[in-house]
Amino acid sequence: MIINKLFDTAIVGGGVAGTSLLFTLARYTDLKNIILFEKYDEVSQLNSNPKANSQTLHVGDIESNYTYEKAKTVKRNSSMVANYIQNFNEVDKCGFRGDKMLLAVGEEEISQLKERYKEFKELYPYLELWDEDFLREFEPKLLEGRKEPILAMGAREQITTVNYKALSESFVQQALDTDKNIQMRYNEEVTKIERDEDGNYSIITDTTSFKAKSVVVNAGAYSLLFAQSMGYGKEYAILPIGGSFFFTKEKLLDSKVYTMQNPKLPFAAIHADPDVTQNWNTRFGPTAFALPKLERYHALHLKDLISALNIDKDVTHVYMNLLKDKTIRRYILKNALEEIPLMGKEIFIRDAKKLIPTLKASELTFAEGYGGMRPQIIDKVKHELLLGEAKIVEDGVIFNMTPSPGATSSLAIALNDALNLCERLGANFDRLKHKNEIEFLKSSSLQSSIIEEKKLA
Ligand SMILES: Cc1cc2nc3c(=O)[nH]c(=O)nc-3n(C[C@H](O)[C@H](O)[C@H](O)COP(=O)(O)OP(=O)(O)OC[C@H]3O[C@@H](n4cnc5c(N)ncnc54)[C@H](O)[C@@H]3O)c2cc1C
Repeated sequence: MIINKLFDTAIVGGGVAGTSLLFTLARYTDLKNIILFEKYDEVSQLNSNPKANSQTLHVGDIESNYTYEKAKTVKRNSSMVANYIQNFNEVDKCGFRGDKMLLAVGEEEISQLKERYKEFKELYPYLELWDEDFLREFEPKLLEGRKEPILAMGAREQITTVNYKALSESFVQQALDTDKNIQMRYNEEVTKIERDEDGNYSIITDTTSFKAKSVVVNAGAYSLLFAQSMGYGKEYAILPIGGSFFFTKEKLLDSKVYTMQNPKLPFAAIHADPDVTQNWNTRFGPTAFALPKLERYHALHLKDLISALNIDKDVTHVYMNLLKDKTIRRYILKNALEEIPLMGKEIFIRDAKKLIPTLKASELTFAEGYGGMRPQIIDKVKHELLLGEAKIVEDGVIFNMTPSPGATSSLAIALNDALNLCERLGANFDRLKHKNEIEFLKSSSLQSSIIEEKKLA
């Protein structure tokens, strides 16, 4: 077994989380030696792939499953990705401007939307209320054949859509363009991480052992498995939730259209979006269903799954709590049935019609090869299903678990981890450069977005 030199930081996982950390460390710190391990032959083959996720930059303005407090955090986190895309000239390569809205259907949802607008307008001053007359011109399919009244809260020409794989590639390129020693180890699966007696870490792959002063594990659902193999995070388990999509044969909408959340349900309501991988054709989803897999389209390693599920009386308690609720039981059953070929779309169409009333099941096709796995975290101590990201920080080793909106938050998570590593390793972080490039929109980028807005007006 070959033992390589001592790296400052080893990153396990080349999704958007791992690559955003690589970029942040390479560009804003004085750490010189960084290595990233990715078990597949390219970055972002799992959840950060545009086929796996909804390609949304979650700003919190149209996501009615977020509270005001959550929206404030998401707004700050998403701005880093939006700023990167604009400041590094990645508009129309990684990130795309477009229109978006939250659609309320029926009087009850409309009054909820009006209340939300009053509250959220303060956080998002650009939000507008769009009535039926406006929508009839703007997105006619939303009105055709509709009996119930609708109202939308929306915004024009925002960075709405992100190809997180393209973003990961851009992060890697930016890191390689620095004068740092960056090693990208593709096709190299990390099998074990050990803390050595000298306080450094051994990162062991099938062929080689590497040494690093610090390790960050950004390996999706596997992050928790690595943590637990090192004796950390025993209070967590994973509930793997699959998400599937449906396509229509033609482009029906120009905007991202989100629907109002049923507050009783733990997963976000479906939406319809122009898809970056399908020539902006309309994609509906995602559904949400429990699936005994950690990767949607790769072979299942039973041992890993059993460890991730970590089933004991506390985990069973959380499952039972979820199943106690009639609405959740129905939702789980409906989403499971939606996976059944042919029958699935007959069930899904009922939800999709909330967006486009004239849509027929025959116009929908199951998006084969699309969809991912959300590694939702169960807190065994609090008996809670956590929605959103989770992190375990130990001495020099960090484990990130990143269900939605993890891709949106990738640069914010990376900033946090980079500051932590700098403190531990006695390294410097160039906060001013980071602020200018990531935390703020450069005046030249601002100028071009004003020109875009003027063109639109
Ligand atoms: C249906 C669905 C819709 C979503 N929609 C959105 C959305 O619209 N917006 C949003 O912000 N988020 C969304 N998300 C969440 C988002 O996809 C994730 O938060 C994000 O992709 C997580 O990035 P990651 O890098 O942590 O994980 P991943 O992208 O899964 O990357 C983990 C990487 O680690 C590698 N790896 C694993 N084990 C090892 C090992 N042992 N050795 C080496 N490499 C390893 C994997 O190959 C992989 O490349 C969605 C998720 C799903 C499932």
